[in-house]
Amino acid sequence: MTDRKKVVVVGGGTSGLAAAYSLLCSKEDVEVTVLEAADRAGGRIAGEEAGGFFIDTGAELFIESYGTVRKLAESLGIPLKRPPYVKGGLMYSNGRFHGIYMGGTWKQRLETLKTLLLFRVFSPKATLQMLRFIRMMRKRGNELSIEDPAKLAAFDSEGSFAAFMDDHSLGDYVNEASHVNIAAYTGAYPEEVGAAYGMSVLWNFLLNPAESVCLPERGVGSFATALVRATDEVTRLSTPVQRIVVEDGIARGAVTEAGENIAADAVICATPATTATWIVPGLPPDVRDVLSRISYSTVVKVVMGLDAELFPRGTFAAAFPKHSGSFLLGIANVKCVAPGVAPEGKNLLQAVTVGDNACSLLPLTDDEIETKVIGEVRKYFPAMPQTPHLARVYRWKEALCIASGGMLRDVLKIRTNGLDGVEGLFLAGDYMRVPISNGALESGIDAAGDSLSFLRQTAAGAD
Ligand SMILES: Cc1cc2nc3c(=O)[nH]c(=O)nc-3n(C[C@H](O)[C@H](O)[C@H](O)COP(=O)(O)OP(=O)(O)OC[C@H]3O[C@@H](n4cnc5c(N)ncnc54)[C@H](O)[C@@H]3O)c2cc1C
Repeated sequence: MTDRKKVVVVGGGTSGLAAAYSLLCSKEDVEVTVLEAADRAGGRIAGEEAGGFFIDTGAELFIESYGTVRKLAESLGIPLKRPPYVKGGLMYSNGRFHGIYMGGTWKQRLETLKTLLLFRVFSPKATLQMLRFIRMMRKRGNELSIEDPAKLAAFDSEGSFAAFMDDHSLGDYVNEASHVNIAAYTGAYPEEVGAAYGMSVLWNFLLNPAESVCLPERGVGSFATALVRATDEVTRLSTPVQRIVVEDGIARGAVTEAGENIAADAVICATPATTATWIVPGLPPDVRDVLSRISYSTVVKVVMGLDAELFPRGTFAAAFPKHSGSFLLGIANVKCVAPGVAPEGKNLLQAVTVGDNACSLLPLTDDEIETKVIGEVRKYFPAMPQTPHLARVYRWKEALCIASGGMLRDVLKIRTNGLDGVEGLFLAGDYMRVPISNGALESGIDAAGDSLSFLRQTAAGAD
């Protein structure tokens, strides 16, 4: 490229920062500007530090097969570790918690056996269905790679996870237990989530014995903080974009809400799909149609720093199935997976609500949410203090992209065909891949690569 070209990245979240970092690391002479609406960058993986605690405001789990996370972490100098983490945890049923772990210590294995054989959580029918489902997942495991949306898209039907399970006579297992796992990993329930996506998250996060959590010592937020720092100089905060300008089928820049017109030779739109549909008036109709069907779950999480350890040692989470009657989906001790998130002798707990329960908290003040959630935790764990060292409320109206049946397949078509009739515009975001943090980061890096190829082509054409 001869002249210095400009790339504008709209959205300084996960995918937008990955795009900017990738452009900055490239050998090309490009000017990069990230326009971020919020007063901080990082989006749904952002980290926060308070009172010696390192908080994940959004995502909290990376797993080993997150190849893009691994590469970026290495480049950013953030070591990832496999903690001594046991999948599963406590499940509330019939008035008390029962341990159900995928492996673990002998004590945990024995407890799991007792839970299963005495049918303390699942009925005999659901227990048999669970074993059948695990066998089925083992056979299909290589089709369920979280890194390979093309493979997943191949069997992404219009159907939901719930419908798929019903069709395979596995409905009792869903109703009694796996709905809580699906909700924990997607923020949505089995009726909302597509079959391929639901199976993929269950297999990769829970059932695949070879897969493990793999995190920075201070959690996902510390990875985001490093990415934010690496792109700090090119990021403009509190700069919401109103419109991406497309003229004569070519992206020309962005107009901010304040009315500033920022010209560019290429634009990367790294906002959620719901925003992309209105921010780019020039989107091709078939692309707009796919994007307008994409939705997000709602999550409210309350993060609390405390001295007490509420769970048995080595237990990450306690879950509340729908029939438990709690408005919480689960409580997790983040220190169990990322030991550096809390000072010595302290723990960092997060209580999560999703769906309607989360929506009903949204109108409340932070103090009201805190009081309600702490009261609920104390109902189940009396050792929970009334006033923890720290409590923070995080509201995610658009939390995790839901990937309903057919979405992965439709989005793959957009990636394959490109944005027909619009040049110089590239879409990034979790919805463009398997919708998790790794997918978002990968989509940003790909959009950066595509924008550089486009700029090279236009430069060659001009010569
Ligand atoms: C509570 C929670 C828990 C999660 N848990 C996990 C997990 O454990 N593991 C995992 O892998 N994933 C998890 N995820 C999902 C993961 O965080 C997301 O898939 C990923 O971070 C999304 O990246 P993104 O770039 O698509 O969006 P974001 O990171 O949200 O970035 C979009 C950015 O665009 C900005 N923006 C929007 N509109 C405009 C505008 N008009 N102008 C300028 N900027 C704009 C936003 O402010 C935001 O910063 C979780 C998410 C949440 C919320």
